[in-house]
Amino acid sequence: MVREDTQNRLIGWCRQALRFVLPVECIACGQALSTDPVPFFCRACWQTIRQFQEPACARCDQPFVSPAATAFTPNHQCQHCQERPPDFQQAWTLFPYLPPLRDAICSFKYRGKHTMAKPLARLMISALPSEIDIDVIIPVPLHPTRLRAREFNQSLLLADQLSRHLSRPVSATNLVRTVATDPQTTLSRQERLRNLRKAFEIRKPQDLAEKRILLVDDVYTTGATLNECAKTLRKSGAGPVFALTLARTVDTALVPDRFFAEQAQQPLTTIGI
Ligand SMILES: [Zn+2]
Ligand SMILES: [Zn+2]
Repeated sequence: MVREDTQNRLIGWCRQALRFVLPVECIACGQALSTDPVPFFCRACWQTIRQFQEPACARCDQPFVSPAATAFTPNHQCQHCQERPPDFQQAWTLFPYLPPLRDAICSFKYRGKHTMAKPLARLMISALPSEIDIDVIIPVPLHPTRLRAREFNQSLLLADQLSRHLSRPVSATNLVRTVATDPQTTLSRQERLRNLRKAFEIRKPQDLAEKRILLVDDVYTTGATLNECAKTLRKSGAGPVFALTLARTVDTALVPDRFFAEQAQQPLTTIGI
């Protein structure tokens, strides 16, 4: 911990020295950065990132509008999960996908700022539910063409940090994406589901037989991708599959917490599913 503090301070000093040559401003508020520990974000903005506080669906973690939803039935599930139970046993979707976290994830993923991997993973670890009990961590895979374009799989970088924290191995090559799905942003839910069907395969099912699996991704939007991964894993003999994402898109009209609504200045995107 002390070593990490010293490291962060050193990085801060280096950044401050570099600022004379390459000015660096906080992506969220535009303030010049000095000894702030997270790259591209000032300490004040980073500290506004808060975990979900609302009661949520015991299966998919969808926050409920009413705080009374789980008052008498703590394991209450949302209507969607009751009607069509997902193939994963449980999902944890830790933070609302709102600025400045949304900016951080987008710069990490789409602007190649892979130095964000560690602070984002630290955030994920800070909010990790204590009941997680798994054997293997599997990042949601990218199709090889997408991986070539992006050069790294953001979920693998998060899974790798998580693996050190949980002392569990990462399996990064067994679950593969065999179908290059279209960019999902403009598709309807039906089209998205059709697109994803049979998009994943398991290379060595025997290695995952009966194993409790934690799927890791950066953002939970509809849950369709995670569900398809879970379905593929379950079909090939894996044990229970759990899902963990750093963030979850939120419909701010349905989130009663004023704080979240105030943060959502731009329309929410569905990028990243
Ligand atoms: Zn800032
Ligand atoms: Zn649910």
